[in-house]
Amino acid sequence: MSYLPNILFVILLLGGGGFFLKNIRKLSRNIKLGKDIDRSDRGSERWGNMARIALGQSKMVSRPIAGLLHIVVYVGFLIINIEVLEIIIDGLLGTHRVFAFAGGLYDFLIGSFEILAFLVLVSVIIFWIRRMILKIPRFWSKEMTSWPKNDALNILYFEIVLMSLFLLMNAADYALQQMGAIHYVQAGSFPISQYIAAILPENELTLFYIERGAWWLHIAGILVFLNYLYYSKHLHILLAFPNTFYANLESQGRIDNLASVTKEVKLMMDPEADPYAVPEAGEEEIVEKFGASDVTDLNWVQLMNAYTCTECGRCTSVCPANQTGKELSPRAIMMKTRDRLEEVGKVIDTKGEDSFRTEGDGKTLLDTISEAEIWACTSCNACVTECPINIDPLSIIIDLRRYLVMENSAAPQELNLMMSNIENNGAPWQYGQMDRLNWKDE
Ligand code: SF4
Ligand code: SF4
Repeated sequence: MSYLPNILFVILLLGGGGFFLKNIRKLSRNIKLGKDIDRSDRGSERWGNMARIALGQSKMVSRPIAGLLHIVVYVGFLIINIEVLEIIIDGLLGTHRVFAFAGGLYDFLIGSFEILAFLVLVSVIIFWIRRMILKIPRFWSKEMTSWPKNDALNILYFEIVLMSLFLLMNAADYALQQMGAIHYVQAGSFPISQYIAAILPENELTLFYIERGAWWLHIAGILVFLNYLYYSKHLHILLAFPNTFYANLESQGRIDNLASVTKEVKLMMDPEADPYAVPEAGEEEIVEKFGASDVTDLNWVQLMNAYTCTECGRCTSVCPANQTGKELSPRAIMMKTRDRLEEVGKVIDTKGEDSFRTEGDGKTLLDTISEAEIWACTSCNACVTECPINIDPLSIIIDLRRYLVMENSAAPQELNLMMSNIENNGAPWQYGQMDRLNWKDE
């Protein structure tokens, strides 16, 4: 009977951990549905980016208030969860405050965790006020309804509950230590929870139930939080690191060429080239689709971008198209890509990947991203610059445009006219090559 809590704890841990691993496998499979792209170059630059942007949160501080609050929550959450290690060991072995042997260092750590937990609580409340009372516009745009809105709030409530349970657990523990209760070793320093202890009941058994209840709910809450991540924009807690590592390092204005098109153009421009020459071994043409109409046409980094998006809306708030009332929102592009990827993942769960790749499901990404959104983009890169975790919505827009132009011939009329002019006149204007310099005689 005395092992019952340990057995329950092992079941809780295995259940929570197992479900999390199952979802991580699904996440990895979905990301790998994307086309291959080599981002293994410039290793030291990539590590530096990851350390600076994901770990150091360097791009967050461009908006100082939100940035500072986010850093407090992020650091607090990471550091306080070091304490989870102690909870896990205690839960498995039936010990209590197993790291108490560290003496002064342990006291310092518990004291620091408490101060951080308090700061996290304050920050989360300010976040809630900004979102719900000050109603900052980027949190209330049209894509931020139903689940996205609830998701953002859920996580704030989660943080409040987890930090409160942590402080309540410590408060009851502190009170029990003061009473000299058996099993409650004299360890830790409690700069915040000692004030909560002052308002707790003085009965030892009641305090014991409060301490144990908060302890179990705290660890169960952390496991629930871990499993909630997959369904939430808060997946960025994990994915921000690989996302910044594998981000595009080329200069922002550079748009990659399609190899097959480049080859075709070279053939056209080289009078010596034989367009009917048999390709050399290893050079066989793979029939490819130009651009992207669905998530499986995007590369895996773009798909990882979609899962990493925090839905913060910083990109949309600087997007000139959005600011001038166009339908485009780069945040919505990322959200729709993620939603479609999830939808494809579910089809694959039931039909299998081979069946999906041959038969599809009758839908595409272009069913949710409209041509008006795609063509409203000025390709200014402001969204890419602004994103705090180096997400690149523009690359998805460009690939969708490529598909519309090269596979569907569905460019807007103005563009078609410009392209015909370039083809016929060597310039985007509607007059012959010989007249191009006439302006100088005016
Ligand atoms: S690149 Fe396009 S989507 Fe991004 S900010 Fe500029 S106009 Fe908006
Ligand atoms: S793409 Fe970046 S800036 Fe835009 S909402 Fe997502 S995380 Fe925020």
